[in-house]
Amino acid sequence: MPSKHIVVIGAGAFGGWTALYLLRRGARVTLLDAWGPGNARSSSSGETRVMRGTYGPAQPYTKMATRAMRLWKEHERRWNCQLFHRTGVLWMATAGDDQYERASLSPMREAGVHFEELSSSDMAKRWPQINFEDVRWGIYEPDSGFLCARNACQAVVKGFVHEGGEYEQLAVVAHQMESKYRDGLTLSDGSRLAADGYVFACGPWLGKLFANTIGDLIRPTKQDVFFFGTPAGDDRFSESKLPVWADHRDRFLYGIPAGGGRSFKIADDTRGPEFDPTSGERTASAEARTMIRDYLGFRFPAMKGAPLVGTQVCQYENTPDDDFIIDRHPQAENVWIVGGGSGHGFKHGPAIGEMVAEFAMERKDADAKFQLRRFRKT
Ligand SMILES: Cc1cc2nc3c(=O)[nH]c(=O)nc-3n(C[C@H](O)[C@H](O)[C@H](O)COP(=O)(O)OP(=O)(O)OC[C@H]3O[C@@H](n4cnc5c(N)ncnc54)[C@H](O)[C@@H]3O)c2cc1C
Repeated sequence: MPSKHIVVIGAGAFGGWTALYLLRRGARVTLLDAWGPGNARSSSSGETRVMRGTYGPAQPYTKMATRAMRLWKEHERRWNCQLFHRTGVLWMATAGDDQYERASLSPMREAGVHFEELSSSDMAKRWPQINFEDVRWGIYEPDSGFLCARNACQAVVKGFVHEGGEYEQLAVVAHQMESKYRDGLTLSDGSRLAADGYVFACGPWLGKLFANTIGDLIRPTKQDVFFFGTPAGDDRFSESKLPVWADHRDRFLYGIPAGGGRSFKIADDTRGPEFDPTSGERTASAEARTMIRDYLGFRFPAMKGAPLVGTQVCQYENTPDDDFIIDRHPQAENVWIVGGGSGHGFKHGPAIGEMVAEFAMERKDADAKFQLRRFRKT
């Protein structure tokens, strides 16, 4: 029997892995991306992403992250490259509001995530380069850390092509997408491409591609990321001495230590203004820079006044509940929409790819939590 031909549109964290797993399930797969895997406009752009099991009450993400972690490591071995850095992840719980951290513990126990609960004095002894003022306690995940972002997307596409997949840098023309895909796709080079099935994993572009079905259900927001230079000859802020950290206070700030030529990264998880992923200018805001600088001097006193050595502007593709969208198009059985990473999707890439390939090939439904039906007002 000839194998099913499936076109995956978007080679970011969601689409690349989905294409790879579809291929492994026996489909003939064509993967398309307008600007390439991990390109500077995509939500999977940049160098690093946090890999963690602490997820508060928002589940099943802890379990999904543990599955993804296994798959990330399996592929590091298979492709003989480093995609994950095991620095540990430290969550600082602020006095007053630690519900998120408390709610994280039992899902982590159930999923088998190794963690320690630490008092602020334990943490101060271990990481004297951090000022733990107003932190009551913390969760330390020694086996977590950070993932390579752009490099990993490129490694996935390379692995996909090596295993027999077909990749093309081409855009699907968005015009009248809701109805026209039934007769195949129109591509940016003027050609047409028809297949048995389609997976649209177009991140922050999904709302524009599917104006009726998705529209505002995926709202891209501007997220500024800052990189600071560490003191010369001082490795206290490098991955050998400092874990990935998250500080859950009035705002949720997080960072990734320096190392391998990268500088000290800090970002604010608070949703920024709406942003156009195609035409938006990627300049970080001065206001955010001031706030981040003040915070840096407070929490990491030896970094006070450190020079800003780079900025990056990315976008989250937020759903109203921050849960992913993994579902068939309501009017087309053979069209899947996969996205809505909402600022936390990257780590789950391999677990999502594995799941979507199973759903699409075995004609199964996604978990109700990810279906579009949840947004329908009855
Ligand atoms: C600043 C920032 C920090 C983050 N931190 C973390 C973190 O620490 N941990 C974590 O797990 N997640 C994190 N995330 C979230 C995570 O990176 C995203 O959820 C994830 O990368 C989304 O992947 P995607 O494949 O859905 O989208 P994308 O990476 O945007 O991929 C979509 C692809 O589709 C292509 N495309 C779009 N339209 C078309 C078209 N018409 N034709 C062809 N191709 C098209 C694009 O070129 C793009 O490559 C962060 C995100 C940002 C922005």
